[in-house]
Amino acid sequence: MVTMPPRREPKVTVHNFNAGPAVLPREVMEQVREEFLDWHGLGISITEMSHRSPAFTAVAQQSVRDLTALLAIPEHYRILFLQGGASHMMSMAPLNLSGKTDCADYVITGNWSQRAVTEARRLTNVNIAASAADVNFTTIPDPSGWRCSASPAYLYYCDNETIAGLEFPAVPDAGGEAVLVSDMTSNFLSRPLEVERYGLIFAGAQKNVAPAGLSIALVREDLLGRARADVPFLYDFKLLAESDSMFNTPPVFNWYVAGLTFAWIREQGGVEQMHDNARRRSGKLYDFIDTSDFYSNPVDKPYRSRMNVPFTLADANLDRSFLTAAEDNGLLGLKGHRNVGGMRASMYNGLPEASVDALVEFMAHFAARYG
Ligand SMILES: *Cc1c(COP(=O)(O)O)cnc(C)c1O
Repeated sequence: MVTMPPRREPKVTVHNFNAGPAVLPREVMEQVREEFLDWHGLGISITEMSHRSPAFTAVAQQSVRDLTALLAIPEHYRILFLQGGASHMMSMAPLNLSGKTDCADYVITGNWSQRAVTEARRLTNVNIAASAADVNFTTIPDPSGWRCSASPAYLYYCDNETIAGLEFPAVPDAGGEAVLVSDMTSNFLSRPLEVERYGLIFAGAQKNVAPAGLSIALVREDLLGRARADVPFLYDFKLLAESDSMFNTPPVFNWYVAGLTFAWIREQGGVEQMHDNARRRSGKLYDFIDTSDFYSNPVDKPYRSRMNVPFTLADANLDRSFLTAAEDNGLLGLKGHRNVGGMRASMYNGLPEASVDALVEFMAHFAARYG
């Protein structure tokens, strides 16, 4: 048996602000528990049967229908459910969409687009069209000023930078005809999406969709089959699309949970409702931070993330006391990323608004006591 830390006594209501893996909708988790040992009367778990069984095939097909409905995905896009994380996609994008002598444009707005550049440089020629590194990722450079190359294989950006707390308010219009590629790991399914503007959209599941180990890609059909000849077979979009993401065993449990999350979002009122919820949740926290002398957030207002809110205390020496007191009050996962320090509240689709109310109340009390 693994030794567990002692249980919190007395038991307090827990609010989960983890950045990822992260909170999933309560109803989804309850359904998983409910049917985990005996899936719909078959006597075995969904994790204990063939991915090609009628039961799992039905789960997979329903998930595709629900995701298609949620994002109004046009017919000429393929939906892939892949083993691995968002970082795999940082290799798959150049391997599938560019030749070794092509050039791809990248926009750097934070750690995740920076990581994508590091990987792409090993695989193709990279042009940095714009970077916000010089302002510590506190703003997004205006797309009209991006220095794109003449005919890039694609233009890559990250829609929501999870660590800096920076989000594109709309699809960037950089002028050219480049195939647009976006990492939407941390804001996937949190608002409506103009899918047709993109060649490739991808998201690791563990922020807004399902447990870690699955990523989802939407690929425009005409981009399949462009991979270089030496692409490893499990990195080849065309092969994966032709096999309906079942060239090898897919991560069945994660895929099943993703399907439950899609159905849950539809029941809640779709991605428009998720967007409303996200705006209300983050709005409450930003409004509080902005009226306080004790807390601050450095991001330019139009580019503040609805999902991830980094903030600092007036006195960094209080960070540890803040986190300890927060945990005592059931507010979990507020420690900032190790690269930037401070605090971060991640507020994905599954987070109830009451959790934000609890956080703001706690922050007000803490500031009144120590400010
Ligand atoms: C978490 C995250 C990643 C990394 O995901 P992995 O699944 O760990 O590879 C990449 N991009 C963004 C925007 C993220 O939030």
